Amino acid sequence: MDAEVIAVGSELTSGQKLDTNTQWLSRRLGELGVRVRYQTTVADELMDQVEILRAAAARAQLVVIGGGLGPTQDDLTREALGIVAGVALVEDAGCRRDLEAFFSRRNRPMPVRNRVQALIPEGAEPLPNRVGTAPGIWLEHGGTIFVALPGVPGELMILFDEQVAPRLRATGRLGPVRVHRVINLFGKGESELEAEALDLTVRGRQPEVGITASDATISFRVTGEGPTEAEALAAIEPTVRLIYERFGEWIVGEGPVDVAEALALELARTGARLAVAESCTGGLIAKRITDVAGVSPYFMGGVVSYANALKVSLAGVDPKLIEHHGAVSGEVAEAMAAGIRRVAGADLGLSVTGIAGPGGGTPEKPVGLVYLGLAWGGGVEHRRLLLGSEQPRAVIRSRAAKHAMNWVRQRLRDWPSRDEPSE
Ligand code: ATP
Ligand code: MG
Repeated sequence: MDAEVIAVGSELTSGQKLDTNTQWLSRRLGELGVRVRYQTTVADELMDQVEILRAAAARAQLVVIGGGLGPTQDDLTREALGIVAGVALVEDAGCRRDLEAFFSRRNRPMPVRNRVQALIPEGAEPLPNRVGTAPGIWLEHGGTIFVALPGVPGELMILFDEQVAPRLRATGRLGPVRVHRVINLFGKGESELEAEALDLTVRGRQPEVGITASDATISFRVTGEGPTEAEALAAIEPTVRLIYERFGEWIVGEGPVDVAEALALELARTGARLAVAESCTGGLIAKRITDVAGVSPYFMGGVVSYANALKVSLAGVDPKLIEHHGAVSGEVAEAMAAGIRRVAGADLGLSVTGIAGPGGGTPEKPVGLVYLGLAWGGGVEHRRLLLGSEQPRAVIRSRAAKHAMNWVRQRLRDWPSRDEPSE
């Protein structure tokens, strides 16, 4: 079964609001074995909606519409469906009762304009909405199934899972189940990775492997299918294993696990406590680590030692080092890392100092030059990064933060787990 997903709303076509429903619906449909071939967005204009619905019916067996079922004048989805099916809108007694019950539970009289929400095209089936006022609509016409759902994301999701998915399964027309695994890598360039993965990403390969990049994290997306979810997952397992064997050292995690999440997992595994001293990242590392819930036993905190005076007073850097080598130097990065480790009483001290630009670069110290420092019980080291003088400030700062966190993550990989006896 092929599907088209239609998002309705002028707030979407005007760019005021991001359409998240289509992404969610398309994923869910894919998981059910329905292939989404088109995604369309249309404004709150009756005849535009009618045109889009007709076009969709001509190229898809299932059309899922999100939005435009509300009680206001610009909510036109039910009218458009009526026109496309060539039928009148009729009041559904059950919907009317549900609506009245909805308002009486809230001790409010039902506004007259909400009455239109009990109207559905003749011959259609209402999909009861237990969390909002707008029922969904299931309408079969001319070989196409139309499903209309309220635009409020929470309502759309519940209606889809509780009302639509079971009805779709009952049609007996669903294809094989499609599953994905997304494997995230960091620290190697996209083109380099791509060159080493040509045999995997070649078109027509089964299971399919795609590469995407976001903020220097490269992701392999492995897609497979099977009669059940378990069989589909089993079908992609050998490809996933191949990726782990070939690229294991760069892999940070899967799905939502990017560098910060992976670092948090390593901190939790080892029980190591980390403190940071940040200059050019201005707290970004601390922000990203504390975005992950549950890190308080391991992440102690840090300082934003942006001015040299604070590198000295808060991160314990010897002012002579700054004088001799400059604030952006390996020596100062090491001193910041060792200093914050000492001040915090942490197991690991991490530091960043660099030139985020756009100004402040020199031929010897260009924009994008960043030094990281890492101090632990056994010593202190620094790394030098050249993140590109043409890169925007935000990119340099974000990359610096990610490289710094990734360095700690890699270092911790050799550490024993907390519960393992260490001799
Ligand atoms: P309601 O009964 O709430 O009026 P409705 O079907 O009329 O439902 P809309 O009025 O189109 O829905 O949208 C309701 C809310 O949901 C609005 O805040 C809208 O911005 C949001 N919304 C609608 N469509 C989408 C979408 N595709 N992605 C994200 N949010 C959406
Ligand atoms: Mg709307």
